[in-house]
Amino acid sequence: MFCQNHSLQPWNSFHLDVYAEKISVINSAALLCKAWQDSHRQQQPTLLLGEGSNVLFLEDFTGHVLINRIKGIRVSETEKAWLLHVGAGENWHQLVEFCLQRGMAGIENLALIPGCVGSAPIQNIGAYGVEFRQLCDYVDVVHLPTGHYRHFTVDECQFGYRDSQFKHASCDEYAIIAVGLKLNKIWHPVLTYGDLTRLDPVTVTPKQIFDAVCHMRRSKLPDPAVTGNAGSFFKNPIVEATKAQDLLQHYPAMPRYAQSDGTMKLAAGWLIDQCELKGYQLEGAMVHRQQALVLINQSDAKGHSIVALARKIRECVGERFDIWLEPEVRFIGPQGEIDAIKAIS
Ligand code: NAP
Repeated sequence: MFCQNHSLQPWNSFHLDVYAEKISVINSAALLCKAWQDSHRQQQPTLLLGEGSNVLFLEDFTGHVLINRIKGIRVSETEKAWLLHVGAGENWHQLVEFCLQRGMAGIENLALIPGCVGSAPIQNIGAYGVEFRQLCDYVDVVHLPTGHYRHFTVDECQFGYRDSQFKHASCDEYAIIAVGLKLNKIWHPVLTYGDLTRLDPVTVTPKQIFDAVCHMRRSKLPDPAVTGNAGSFFKNPIVEATKAQDLLQHYPAMPRYAQSDGTMKLAAGWLIDQCELKGYQLEGAMVHRQQALVLINQSDAKGHSIVALARKIRECVGERFDIWLEPEVRFIGPQGEIDAIKAIS
């Protein structure tokens, strides 16, 4: 489907008032390749989007935006696991509900994450102690210039903290068309985060975890349907243990989480909050009052205002803690993705 209206406002969760030269909503791998190849022949930049929930448009996009709406969910099973093959254009939260309604557990901690299923592997989405990679069986992609299909095993995806092979230049010409999930029939609840720690591991049900996660998210995070935002704006920094020890001398209450390799994960939201930036506003962009890690489009913000706010936060946190935050959100310039760290340095 070709959109007559070229506004990207409905296609980015910051709701920025930006435009593209052309927008197409596409429901098959073959059509995705054709649209990409046509644009490529005309030397028109292309951008693949799911629900635009992790992007920041700095200005109008001078090219063709391809909205991936490849749908379909197929379920099969082995003795030990449920196997799902899910079209990249399915909505992530609806998939979580679909699984729970059919008694397939393991995905409940990832409730209410905005965005499409096909975006989940790119970012290796994670919340409340569960990451996409733990559920992933494979990722199917299509090579846009040739239309050849390729199947990535979990190892080939090279998942990391909010990272994967699909974020890197080697995958620039690939589109994710489906993901395979494997949900073990023997269920182990993950109750390590927040309110979940209060649930009884013996009697808890997947639905109770789902409800608790939805409640935590709804009470703390702005609903992108109402207030423009892209979730966590920055990644949580991982620092050397010695650096964390130094900081603890001055800030004994600092939240920190030991990693298996001996490093420490710090909470970026806490660092920002220490700089008293909650509620700080800049040209329509604002640091969310409940969760400092989320930047919001408070009133008709421009992409550049959000960049300026992110730069201010990076400077404040950097000067105070000598920790230089890196955006988790991807920055899109007029012709495609740009280096987000450079943009706020
Ligand atoms: P929070 O409870 O305020 O905690 C702040 C940070 O500390 C979290 O980001 C989390 O890191 C870390 N943390 C908390 N408890 C932990 C534990 N038991 N073990 C290890 N690390 C722990 O976090 P929040 O903002 O409400 O978010 C809750 C969860 O939802 C987090 O997992 C967060 O990543 C996820 N979330 C993600 C986004 C996004 O856009 N990516 C947006 C909102 C929430 P991790 O982030 O590494 O888990």
